[in-house]
Amino acid sequence: MAVTTTRDAFIGGEWIAGDGETIEVRSPWSGETVGSVTASSPSQVDSAVAAAAESFKTWRKTSVLERVEICRRAFTICMDRAEEIAQSITRETGKTIRESREEMIEFTADHFRRASEDVLRHAGKVLPSTQERSNDKRIVVVQEPIGVVAAISPWNFPVDIAGIPIVYGLAVGCSVVWKPSEHAPLCANLFAEVLDDAGFPAGTVNVVHGRGEVGSQLVTHRDVASVVFTGSTATGERVARDAGLKNRVLELGGNGPQIVLADADVEKAADAAITGCFYLAGQCCTAAERILVHESVKDPFLAALVERTKALRVGDPLDEATDMGPMCTSEVLQRTQEHLADAVAKGATIVLGGGHEGQLHEPTIVDGVTQEMRIAQEETFGPVAPIMTFRTLDEALEIANATEYGLTASVFTRSLHDAWHAAEELRHGTVHVNETTNYWDQLAPFGGAKSSGAGRELAGWIIDALTETKQITFDLAP
Ligand code: NDP
Repeated sequence: MAVTTTRDAFIGGEWIAGDGETIEVRSPWSGETVGSVTASSPSQVDSAVAAAAESFKTWRKTSVLERVEICRRAFTICMDRAEEIAQSITRETGKTIRESREEMIEFTADHFRRASEDVLRHAGKVLPSTQERSNDKRIVVVQEPIGVVAAISPWNFPVDIAGIPIVYGLAVGCSVVWKPSEHAPLCANLFAEVLDDAGFPAGTVNVVHGRGEVGSQLVTHRDVASVVFTGSTATGERVARDAGLKNRVLELGGNGPQIVLADADVEKAADAAITGCFYLAGQCCTAAERILVHESVKDPFLAALVERTKALRVGDPLDEATDMGPMCTSEVLQRTQEHLADAVAKGATIVLGGGHEGQLHEPTIVDGVTQEMRIAQEETFGPVAPIMTFRTLDEALEIANATEYGLTASVFTRSLHDAWHAAEELRHGTVHVNETTNYWDQLAPFGGAKSSGAGRELAGWIIDALTETKQITFDLAP
């Protein structure tokens, strides 16, 4: 069944047919056409930025109560349409329907609720004057909406991830131009309908479709003040160069280690590895890309992991019972296969899985992984649990840090001392103790160290990227 949505871009409050190529979206599961959109031409991208810049002039001055009321309405409309949008996400990307519902209900819709609470409590500061010995100065620090925000998003959480800068941007008084992933443009249009129906004024939110060059035009556009980009490290590096002096948040790739120490609860660690390696068929920036197990517990851990992996129901993502669906793109499937072949050629053993049928890759466990293998060094982004062993905690920490990435790590232990030591030594933006790498808290700062990105997002943490901090000094002397 095709997803019914407009095929057009949303510019200045109007749905406008794109002047560019037609981008067809095919289901990674069935290969059927799900729908299509038309790409925006460079002059249409300019029009979208111009509409955003024009609407910003008045939107930045609206009362916070008005912005909050629209956010509250949007929450209700988003919840009403959550199932429809979730179905579209699943058809476009191959995510299981349960994963898509989680994306819409637990993450996306809640951005409206959190943003409307956060902006009401977002306070400035009054600083004492330290420059002179008088009581005449008052220094006020405020955060003002920055202007036009470019939101560029990946396909794996196609609405939720874009929703962070869009919803928070609108709530603080910015206007937004969104370039969704070419792999998931239909759910993006459905979400834009939600924003339009909620009453965000024309031009405050705009959607342009197209491939990387449309994103690139936004990043370099002189009237875009802030870029919030989520995607691969390779694209992110280019965006960082192109963005120049613009404010920006970069949320990039990961190569997360899950460390299982000798005193760990191996059953709990195996449950965490299932979520870490196979949620969204491993196509998560926070996936457990390397499982580091103390040699003394390798056998019971592996047995527990194999048992659980065999129990996974793999197949049609629209089937309510399915635990793991297909991979979204043939490029990532091919890279997964290449990483496995490289690991086997260098001495690793495939314990379970390894094959694929079309885009459906088997949940795979590969043992005997060592540092020089591509699977240990690069982001695989597939449903694979690569097992590495170690003898001491310091050795585990060295392996865990020996990667260009630094997004999320986890450590399993009953020792408070070892947990604390590991948490301090792991060079990752997030460290979880006794929890899967794929654990997120919507109120906590999210972001990466090293090549996993720059800046933090989620809840109020994104506000720095969407505002300009301004100092205002008053001299009260007569
Ligand atoms: P890509 O980097 O391929 O694409 C991300 C977005 O950037 C897409 O909308 C893409 O457009 C666009 N784009 C491509 N080229 C440019 C350019 N030169 N300038 C501006 N925009 C451009 O990532 P994927 O969509 O494949 O997503 C998977 C990656 O995202 C993984 O590496 C994953 O780890 C990472 N990710 C990181 C997260 C985090 O929070 N740290 C969260 C989720 C994913 P188009 O697709 O239309 O070509």
